[in-house]
Amino acid sequence: MDTKAMYRLSYGLFVVTSRNDVKDNGCITNTVMQVTSDPNRISVAINKANFTHDMVKGSGKLAVSVISKEADFELFKRFGFQSGRDVDKFAGFADYERSESGLLYVTKGTNALIGATVERSFDLGTHTLFIAAVNELEVLSAAGSCTYEFYQSDIKPAPAAQAAKSEGKTAWRCRICGYIYEGEELPADFVCPLCKHGAADFEKITI
Ligand code: FE
Repeated sequence: MDTKAMYRLSYGLFVVTSRNDVKDNGCITNTVMQVTSDPNRISVAINKANFTHDMVKGSGKLAVSVISKEADFELFKRFGFQSGRDVDKFAGFADYERSESGLLYVTKGTNALIGATVERSFDLGTHTLFIAAVNELEVLSAAGSCTYEFYQSDIKPAPAAQAAKSEGKTAWRCRICGYIYEGEELPADFVCPLCKHGAADFEKITI
């Protein structure tokens, strides 16, 4: 089996936000899709390790900010590479508003808001799949949507500096965020310190 076949699937990228009694939070996901149009429903799979997961499960509410091609890498770092358990992801951040249903959503580097209420959820082991009824829709920008492929080619910083001074050393690069682990072998249980993806998402490179 060539696991690279999975990279041929096309995905959008989204900031999924929710809240509990005291805090707002959000995480980056590629797993939002419309599943029925009448009634209008979306599905969202969220890793149980994400703080946002617990908030969606607890509140039954979520907001999807659709990331556009005008997003910068800082947006991905803020919502993707740190945990809401450790930090307030909205602290020092100006580009958000509160939706009618009371959830924060991102207003810059995004092109639409989709607010939804959870109807059903399915335990998938590492993730929960939420089926949610859409109750709020707003177009935020005319910019095109950012696909996962566009993020890889145009937003994620290229490891140009490392390539330029290649010393022929073996390293492993996280396909998700670009983090580089230096070493001949990547431990099988290695977890990316930035985006928390596992060894399966690393590729062998020379630096
Ligand atoms: Fe990573």
